[in-house]
Amino acid sequence: MSALTDTWGRVATDLRVSLTDRCNLRCNYCMPAEGLDWLPDDSVLTDDEVVRLVDIAVSRLGVDEVRFTGGEPLVRRGLVDIVARTAKLDPRPEISMTSNALGLARNAQALADAGLDRVNVSLDTIRPDTFHEITRRDRLHDVLAGLYAARDAGLGPVKVNAVLLRGVNDDQAPELLRWCVGEGFELRFIEQMPLDAQHAWSRTEMITADEIFARLDTEFTLTPAAEPRGSAPAELFAVDGGPSTVGVIASVTRPFCGDCDRVRLTADGQVRNCLFAREESDLRTPLRDGSSDEEIAQRWVRAVANKLPGHGINDPAFLQPARPMSAIGG
Ligand code: SAM
Repeated sequence: MSALTDTWGRVATDLRVSLTDRCNLRCNYCMPAEGLDWLPDDSVLTDDEVVRLVDIAVSRLGVDEVRFTGGEPLVRRGLVDIVARTAKLDPRPEISMTSNALGLARNAQALADAGLDRVNVSLDTIRPDTFHEITRRDRLHDVLAGLYAARDAGLGPVKVNAVLLRGVNDDQAPELLRWCVGEGFELRFIEQMPLDAQHAWSRTEMITADEIFARLDTEFTLTPAAEPRGSAPAELFAVDGGPSTVGVIASVTRPFCGDCDRVRLTADGQVRNCLFAREESDLRTPLRDGSSDEEIAQRWVRAVANKLPGHGINDPAFLQPARPMSAIGG
């Protein structure tokens, strides 16, 4: 067994697999209203190819956690089957999914039965008008139905990921937290990152972790949670003494690259050792040219070895990666 170790001593054990670059929402901080030029079908890994790569990661490279994402993973037709086959791998990894929950109400039980352990649902507001303003779709009721179905199917703890946008929903942070606490969902606020397709991100416009705390402090008492953070991206806080918690993922203002244990696989079979990497390593070509599992594993090892010490967002010379978040896999 080789480990996915980089030259700074970090070991990647958490694999994020993008199953498609397509999405059925158009969140304005992610992509333009008309969508993007989607990947051609023949460049997207087949279900068999995805499962083969995940098997290599789990059985040869020490990956013990697999998170399916996108784009929107629920629009991938073979999702339930991919989850079921992942759950049969040896050793069996933890299996989770990041989703906007559209259609999850129909699929939550099948996904749980297939072996999905947990879901993170992206939801930036519980107000229908703000939901439409951000996502350009009137689908809040579908997202809520998906969240409840995930909870009923035992896909917990169900986490809710929210991005705050200045002048749009930043005043709704306490309302969203109160709702999540009441419903038993674990809310995590994510700082907006320079990963949008439009390249419109601005440091002065983004809502920082300090601003998130200031908005929550008006209604809640937050105290650092007892459990150690480890390699988790979220800093956790007990809400009003607990047991409910809220997380803040402050990738921009409080980077946590030194503890990163993540590696990403795009829907077209490229390994990215960081969300912000400017280079990718192609696994699709060896996958399709008859290379052995061991050869592919060794390519993967080399791809991670080059990982930079940090994402560099705060360096004056920072350049946004060519692919947006939706194509990399969030
Ligand atoms: N469609 C799925 C979903 O909605 O969760 C998975 C992909 S989506 C790109 C994953 C997460 O990335 C969502 O929570 C979304 O809000 C977040 N996201 C997208 N663009 C972002 C950005 N520029 N900065 C921070 N988070 C972003």
